[in-house]
Amino acid sequence: MEKWKEPIYITSPVLPELSNFTNQLEKIWESHILTNNGAMHKELEINLKTYLKVPSITLMSNGTIALLLGLKGLELSGEVIVTPFTFPATTEALDWLGLTPVFCDIESETYTIDVSKIESLITEKTSAILGVHVFGNICKVEAIQEIADRYNLKVIYDGAHAFGATYNNEPIGRFGDLTMFSFHATKLFNTIEGGGLVYRDQSLYERLYLLKNFGISGPENVVLSGLNGKLNEIQAAMGIEVLKLVESERLKRKEVQKKYIKHLDGIKGIRIINVNTTDSNSFQYFPIEVDEMNFGLSRDQLHNKLVSHNIISRKYFYPLCSTFEWYSDNKSADAVNLPVATNVVERVLCLPFYGDLDENVILYIKELFITK
Ligand SMILES: *Cc1c(COP(=O)(O)O)cnc(C)c1O
Repeated sequence: MEKWKEPIYITSPVLPELSNFTNQLEKIWESHILTNNGAMHKELEINLKTYLKVPSITLMSNGTIALLLGLKGLELSGEVIVTPFTFPATTEALDWLGLTPVFCDIESETYTIDVSKIESLITEKTSAILGVHVFGNICKVEAIQEIADRYNLKVIYDGAHAFGATYNNEPIGRFGDLTMFSFHATKLFNTIEGGGLVYRDQSLYERLYLLKNFGISGPENVVLSGLNGKLNEIQAAMGIEVLKLVESERLKRKEVQKKYIKHLDGIKGIRIINVNTTDSNSFQYFPIEVDEMNFGLSRDQLHNKLVSHNIISRKYFYPLCSTFEWYSDNKSADAVNLPVATNVVERVLCLPFYGDLDENVILYIKELFITK
């Protein structure tokens, strides 16, 4: 088959009308305030609290810094239980704080942390469980909280894929001690680069504010060792405009997901992972699992075929974080302890997914799947 006429990427960022963005920029130019909790930043915090239905939010320069400062804000020490099937930032944030990741295997259906394996990994050094809502699949939040309460552990969620998702009608940001969202350009809601933490304990606000502002509490007071994690006014202005478009983008993605399911359903050896087409989904990615025996091609062969035809699919999250060279002395990183993650990482592929994706591209992808 001929190549698709232009490259189709994994996502296409939600962009406001340029004039709506420049109107916001004019306000910034008039104010002469470019960063440090300006008017745009304040407005975006309010709008996001309303949208995400959470009591507190702290905006940050990106999701990785948000996670790092959130972990720091909870004053964790020692070991943190985490999964290896995630974006490198999840475990790198632990590294920067001198926390040791203890890798826990994932569930084969959802790729989220396998709660039945958490307790056996808890030691007297464990201070927290860090769950990842992979591809918008929500962790078993109640079971995790129950374990955390019994062992007096903190619970943090990497919610980079779960913006706007709900669990049993409950907004996802209300679970655990903290949830991180990323506002990177590839995410459903973007501020170009950006991120945020949401939480119920409002007393964290002050501490997180200090942490992202060098620990400076007043013109002549520096009270803790922080760093620069601020979201600037231009990012906030982008966020204000993009947030207005998120609901319609979610609706469009829901239709794209339904079309994918309609066209790919029943292809032998292909499992569609996120079949949740209700509004509780975050509609962040469209992942599939390839079973080489039944499909006839391995995931890598399918990926190469798609990419050579201009369909730029992505092998998220290959390689597993536990295989990073700097964890070679970490016993929990041994593949024998992580059979599901080790298997899944060779089989998952994310297909192009965004609201304006043309159904003809999906039909073309289907043709590539069935012509071997
Ligand atoms: C995107 C992402 C991050 C990092 O967010 P940035 O805003 O890019 O720093 C962390 N975790 C997961 C699972 C992600 O997908």
